[in-house]
Amino acid sequence: MAAFLASRLAKTVYDKFKIKSSEVILWSDSMIVLAWLHSQSTSLQLFVGVRVVEIQATWESDTWRYVPTDLNPADDLSRGIPVTTINKCWMNSPSFLKGGSEMWPSESNEIPPNVPEIKVTKPMFTWRRPSTNTIVDPSRFSNWRKLCRVTAYCFRFVNNVKASKRVHGVLLPEEIESAERYWILSAQEQLGDWKERYKELAPFEKEVIRVGGRLKHSPLSYDNNHPVLLPTEHHISKLVIKDAHNLVRHAGCERTLCETRRKFWIPSGRNLVQKIVRECVTCRKLHQYPYKTLMADLPPERLKVFSPPSQ
Ligand SMILES: [Zn+2]
Repeated sequence: MAAFLASRLAKTVYDKFKIKSSEVILWSDSMIVLAWLHSQSTSLQLFVGVRVVEIQATWESDTWRYVPTDLNPADDLSRGIPVTTINKCWMNSPSFLKGGSEMWPSESNEIPPNVPEIKVTKPMFTWRRPSTNTIVDPSRFSNWRKLCRVTAYCFRFVNNVKASKRVHGVLLPEEIESAERYWILSAQEQLGDWKERYKELAPFEKEVIRVGGRLKHSPLSYDNNHPVLLPTEHHISKLVIKDAHNLVRHAGCERTLCETRRKFWIPSGRNLVQKIVRECVTCRKLHQYPYKTLMADLPPERLKVFSPPSQ
């Protein structure tokens, strides 16, 4: 923050006094800040990175120089000094500034170990993402079953290339299940720290991440008792809801949600189901009000005054 304020203050002075930018030198006694200013802003955490971007856009990196702590007048007041010595550095500026650049403190080439606020690059677990991911793009599919079948055919093709005995004919249930599991695992990578984030659901991992819940002793199927946990924002979650919605013949939100939860648990699923049902074209057609036509004018015979025939 000190460097950020110094940068803005220097910019104000620079604009007002029309100083040449090459004559501006900014000093910092923090090796960490200087390391940030000489690094890529994208490699820093957001708070620091945003400020470093502004500083780097305003000043060249060689504008910044290192000043040892004992020569830094800014430290005098913040650390406290006797009144008798306040006239030395604080009031009259450090002595090296009165001379030429040859009197300036030498630049320290020492790079501090473990610079804080540097983003830690997380390793990519590519073992969970086979190369089919680049071939099959789930966002281009609007049908969950079709996505699974296409993926299953891709897996079969890859296996046939590797194996001596090739498989032909219709897809086997285990092939489709394998493709389903692949996309579930792919979607669950978005769950992040699922143990902590969804701890109220008591999740556990058995091939895929499932909801623990309280139905362990229920006679229902394993999928019903422990539905698969899917992230709300992922496209796969939308596909499984659409599939459940088609399965219940475009019934309402609650029925669709109930069908989805027989196998999948999507946090904030009701909102997502409502959104998908609202956007469903078939439902819109089914629930649309009949078109009202504009009636023609009444004929004059119906509007004339007449006497009743019985009188
Ligand atoms: Zn519908």
